Amino acid sequence: MKINENVKIKELTTMRLGGLARYVIELETVEDVEKAYLFAKERQLPVFILGTGSNVIGKDEGFKGVILLNRIKGIRFIDELTIDAMGGELLDDLVAFTTEKNLSGIEALSAIPGTVGAAPVQNVGAYGQEIEQVLESVYAYDFKEEKYVTIKKEDMNLGYRQSIFNQGEDAGRYLIISMRIHLSHDRLTPPFYTSLQSYVEEHQITDFSPKSIREMVTEIRWSKLPKPEEMASSGSFFKNVYLDDQEAERLRSMNVPVWEGNKVPSGWLIDHAGLKGKSFYGMRVSEKAALILINESAQSYAHLKQAREEIVSIIEKKYGLTLKQEPVELE
Ligand SMILES: Cc1cc2nc3c(=O)[nH]c(=O)nc-3n(C[C@H](O)[C@H](O)[C@H](O)COP(=O)(O)OP(=O)(O)OC[C@H]3O[C@@H](n4cnc5c(N)ncnc54)[C@H](O)[C@@H]3O)c2cc1C
Repeated sequence: MKINENVKIKELTTMRLGGLARYVIELETVEDVEKAYLFAKERQLPVFILGTGSNVIGKDEGFKGVILLNRIKGIRFIDELTIDAMGGELLDDLVAFTTEKNLSGIEALSAIPGTVGAAPVQNVGAYGQEIEQVLESVYAYDFKEEKYVTIKKEDMNLGYRQSIFNQGEDAGRYLIISMRIHLSHDRLTPPFYTSLQSYVEEHQITDFSPKSIREMVTEIRWSKLPKPEEMASSGSFFKNVYLDDQEAERLRSMNVPVWEGNKVPSGWLIDHAGLKGKSFYGMRVSEKAALILINESAQSYAHLKQAREEIVSIIEKKYGLTLKQEPVELE
């Protein structure tokens, strides 16, 4: 394991904000996890787990603790359809591996930035697939009990962008070392998620193999989403809003689209409030995908905070709904 001191958090996160981290430890083996935990414990320092930082925002004051960077690699078959992937692998590399093997289950998660270890944390999803649909269990280190544990999917309380790993009293308690998924030989069948369906129709595509879906999803995603290496962002900055029946009715009467499960797409709200392409304190609402906030020139977390407050307030005034930030803050 590699221990680095006084590392810039902005260089570890895709929004490219944040001061110095006291220590950053790169974990390369399973044993490193316990060793790194003990390193922090001996110094009575808090720990924060980081993958590629694509859903984490650093703060100006930095982090006076130990950041654990999961870089543990490896992908192996358990049986014909079951795979164990180590948490430091990139999720997209795992998708490439499984689609090469002609296996279905995560092909629509192509090109989501980030690591395998972070995927169950917010139950990553895109184009109608969520990791929950294939996840069996994770192998993790439990900081509370100070031991390695296996956690089954049923015990993870997975939901829309949430799990026990990021919500409630166990948030931050486990470091996910590896994830076990179960795939299939099936094929996704139309109708697909709206933008994928439009692509299929426009290009008259009839090959729905995992590899073909991967290619289409990757092309669609990068035609509208900012690549982290080219533009600083955390992907979707706001979560979609889920309403009770009464609120859903109120929004419908305002001609706001309310989808299945009383879900209101926050991107639609931001778009129809005329905010696409607008800049606030160096943060710009993407012209292509209104849910994405791009760090164009903001140098500090304070700028992001001001931008967020302004956008939230505009949407509150127009629709009476409060948008919630999706990326977590490093503290
Ligand atoms: C351009 C762009 C597009 C995106 N599109 C999507 C999308 O379509 N769907 C989607 O769901 N997300 C999307 N995201 C968000 C992001 O890709 C996911 O949240 C991803 O899972 C984050 O992975 P990461 O390795 O970067 O995690 P990080 O951002 O480093 O960490 C995210 C959270 O997980 C925790 N964590 C990380 N690794 C571990 C571990 N091994 N064990 C325990 N906890 C851990 C962290 O403490 C933190 O709370 C997008 C982001 C960007 C920048």
